[in-house]
Amino acid sequence: MDLDSPIRFLKGIGPGRAEALEEKGFSTAGDLLLHFPFRYEDRSRFVAIGDLRASSSRVTISGRVLSSSLFTTKRRGLKVVKALLDDGTGAIECVWFNQPFIRDHLVKGAELIVHGMPQPAPDRSGSIQMQAPEWEIVTHERGDEIHMGRIVPIHRRLPNLSPKALRRILHDLLAQIPADLGDPLPPALRERLELLPRGEAIRQVHFPEAGTSSAGLNARRTPAHRRMIFEELFLLQMALALRRRGIEAEKRAYPYRMTAEIRKRLAQVLPFHLTRAQRRVLQEIVSDLKSPHPMHRLLQGDVGSGKTIVAFLSMLFAVENGLQAVLMAPTEILAEQHNRVIQRLMAGKPYRSVLLTGATRKSGGRQILAGIAGGFWQIVVGTHAIIQETVKFNRLGLVVVDEQHRFGVLQRAALSQKGASPDVLVMTATPIPRSLCLTVYGDLNMSLMDELPPGRRPVKTVRRNDDARAKIYEFVRKQIRQGRQAYVVLPLVEESETQTLKAAVKMSADLKRLLPDTTIGLVHGRLKTDEREEVMKGFAEGKIELLVATTVIEVGIDVPNATIMVIENAERFGLSQLHQLRGRVGRGPHPSYCILLEGAGITPEAESRLAIMDETEDGFRIAEKDLEIRGPGELTGTKQTGLPELRIANIIRDRDILELAREEAFKLVLDMDDAQATGREGPYRPLVIHVKRQWGEKLGLAATG
Ligand code: ADP
Ligand code: MG
Repeated sequence: MDLDSPIRFLKGIGPGRAEALEEKGFSTAGDLLLHFPFRYEDRSRFVAIGDLRASSSRVTISGRVLSSSLFTTKRRGLKVVKALLDDGTGAIECVWFNQPFIRDHLVKGAELIVHGMPQPAPDRSGSIQMQAPEWEIVTHERGDEIHMGRIVPIHRRLPNLSPKALRRILHDLLAQIPADLGDPLPPALRERLELLPRGEAIRQVHFPEAGTSSAGLNARRTPAHRRMIFEELFLLQMALALRRRGIEAEKRAYPYRMTAEIRKRLAQVLPFHLTRAQRRVLQEIVSDLKSPHPMHRLLQGDVGSGKTIVAFLSMLFAVENGLQAVLMAPTEILAEQHNRVIQRLMAGKPYRSVLLTGATRKSGGRQILAGIAGGFWQIVVGTHAIIQETVKFNRLGLVVVDEQHRFGVLQRAALSQKGASPDVLVMTATPIPRSLCLTVYGDLNMSLMDELPPGRRPVKTVRRNDDARAKIYEFVRKQIRQGRQAYVVLPLVEESETQTLKAAVKMSADLKRLLPDTTIGLVHGRLKTDEREEVMKGFAEGKIELLVATTVIEVGIDVPNATIMVIENAERFGLSQLHQLRGRVGRGPHPSYCILLEGAGITPEAESRLAIMDETEDGFRIAEKDLEIRGPGELTGTKQTGLPELRIANIIRDRDILELAREEAFKLVLDMDDAQATGREGPYRPLVIHVKRQWGEKLGLAATG
């Protein structure tokens, strides 16, 4: 039995369970061993039931079942299991919903361990109960001591396995495999950082030694945890460092030249003086493009800092060098806006640019594609779909990806796998906390645009509730009379586009009644592209004075004359969404306002989001807070940001280890290059093979080399 043994040969796992586990990505013993506990329970002592008080923290208790019952509620048809648990100091009721099978286990006299939150019972009797606690039956059979009387690991549930069965399987597996599990970390590094050997660390994380503090375990701060967290982050950073090295070894396909003539022509399209930050960033991009290697750069600039013009000038620089350039936006609305801006800037200039979205493909698709393939179109503006589709270019030089915090390392890997390795500039208006940067964008160079164009004023932000509606509308009316424009944004009703649409339609009808002399437009996700384009154009040109919208306007929209942003049910929006929405105003010379309308029954989490909005306009602070409130798991679902899935590390909690792992990995890759130059790469090979096996495919690392 070793780490590569197929999972179906493990004791306790038959073919049925094996299949379910394989579907979840566990195919070997080694995979299963990396399924680490997510918490630890000290079962050497329990809280006495008689001492329990309602609280918001979870506790573990143990007792015998006095009685249990299963019934179905009349109104909602819920199947409810109730059990009364007694430990000699008192009794407590435990309740589970729609899991009728639980009843079969809760026979009278059974000994039970439950973990949950003591809460006041809903019948207001003053007694407390636990709703849907985790539970385990205690049997006192031989071998049951791994579940009892000690610190016990709690693993996340896997299909077809009870927590006890999983614990048992892991325990048996660890007893069967060799003590020394091999180690991808170079011995010198391990010694210097005083890290435990791998085999010992894996054992300790699953089944901690007696006497380990459960607080330390739950904070993941034991030496064993540190070792496994470091390993995970180090291997990821190695993969990013190797990717970076691969990028640096790439040769650019087409050379760039900057001449006085080109400089002059670029200056002629500029409608205003660039800010210092814009000039600096442009210089960074130009020097990337003139270097012998393709560019991979992330441009961070808060909402409204003026990234578009920088992207556009970079694209023209490509065009001036006889190349094609692409600008990709996350939504069609945004692509259309970019297209409008670019058309305006290019009017009367000898450049040719085309819009490529779902809609234009339907109408003139084939011709546009032919024009791109033949090199007639120099600039192509479109949605992110461009990279997934079979668009062929003549001489693709530069790809700019706009407003993309969903365009992480995984997606960029897909882009370079398309064959050519164009220069890539990724732009984001949601400042990215450093910890995320190091993982999702860990292989990129970074530019920061930390200055707003002149004349911007802070947006006045207020929190209001329904009582203030009349006053708010009066204020909106006055602003519109003075020539300004306003947004009213509604949240997406989760999972119901129809309801969202209904709410938006009703809102615009209400507003038409309340503000009869105002021109009101409505945009939502169900509109056809040309209809939406029509409305957005009307708003951009000032013909529409008030725009009711579902969150489709979230990113990028730029209408400097709009000065009011009313956000309905602001508590339902995420923090970075709110920041984006507020960034739609305050873009011109007039004072601007963001009105957060709050519904009833705000959760503490929503309250903290709104409080931050009230407190600061600094995108970086907001992003840090967002990450703190939501946790990296939620923010970085692989789909959203392209953050690779992590098993034990948490990039916020483990920020310090992340920094260390990054430094060590990037240093090691440099050492490797030296070693290679002198023909001594031998000692690094096992590590590189390990890294490539784990991350190679996901991050687009070459299989060899
Ligand atoms: P973002 O960085 O959020 O994408 P935009 O590129 O949309 O910002 O720019 C926001 C607004 O600021 C636009 O109306 C743009 O024309 C204007 N702008 C950008 N740079 C400057 C500048 N240097 N001086 C004045 N206005 C500028
Ligand atoms: Mg933008």
